[in-house]
Amino acid sequence: MFDFDMLGLSPALNDALSRNGFKEPTPIQNQAIPLALEGHDVLGLAQTGTGKTLAFGLPLIDRLLQSPGKPAPKTVKALILAPTRELVNQIAESLKQLTDGTRIRVSTVVGGQSINRQINFLSRGTDILVATPGRLIDLMERRAVDLSSASYLVLDEADQMLDLGFIHALRKIAPALGTPRQTMLFSATMPKQMEELSAAYLTNPRKVQVSPPGK
Ligand code: ADP
Ligand code: MG
Repeated sequence: MFDFDMLGLSPALNDALSRNGFKEPTPIQNQAIPLALEGHDVLGLAQTGTGKTLAFGLPLIDRLLQSPGKPAPKTVKALILAPTRELVNQIAESLKQLTDGTRIRVSTVVGGQSINRQINFLSRGTDILVATPGRLIDLMERRAVDLSSASYLVLDEADQMLDLGFIHALRKIAPALGTPRQTMLFSATMPKQMEELSAAYLTNPRKVQVSPPGK
């Protein structure tokens, strides 16, 4: 059984999923992937463990595989923001698993690691950059990264980021991104601030929502 092929992903990506033992999409993946492939902004409400990484990651990889050309030096094609080092690394690992053997380059920038090393690898350009907001801003201020051609933005675990001064950080980051841009925002809860965030950074978003497992 392999049920991912109903979602409209490219054959190459379906092969990679199958090779990695994925058989059927989770509910949030079922809902979000076709909408994202159509180019819509997506506002996703889903708890931890529901498979959000591939819900935004698969359409992102699919689009990038179809957009020709390597990223120019210092540039980024897609930016994923997540609240912690651990989450950034988990997201990157799971995307690398599916881009292994392709030309898509996935990089991470987080605090607590050598910034010079990050400046060095960012200089070559990156297809998908997964970052914590604080370190990213530091790198932007040093002109180590150019987000002006980034046409995809993902805000993962956005409610956790709110607690970390995220609104302020996003005010610095979002204007540096390219337009037009496809934005996906995922959160486990939808406090009022999240609605404001959505109104400020998403355009006509399609809402997807799944109940926590077991409810
Ligand atoms: P979330 O971000 O919602 O917390 P993750 O994307 O981290 O969830 O996924 C949780 C776990 O489920 C990971 O180990 C991931 O590899 C696995 N997973 C994701 N999608 C599927 C799927 N369609 N089939 C089987 N396992 C999956
Ligand atoms: Mg996650």
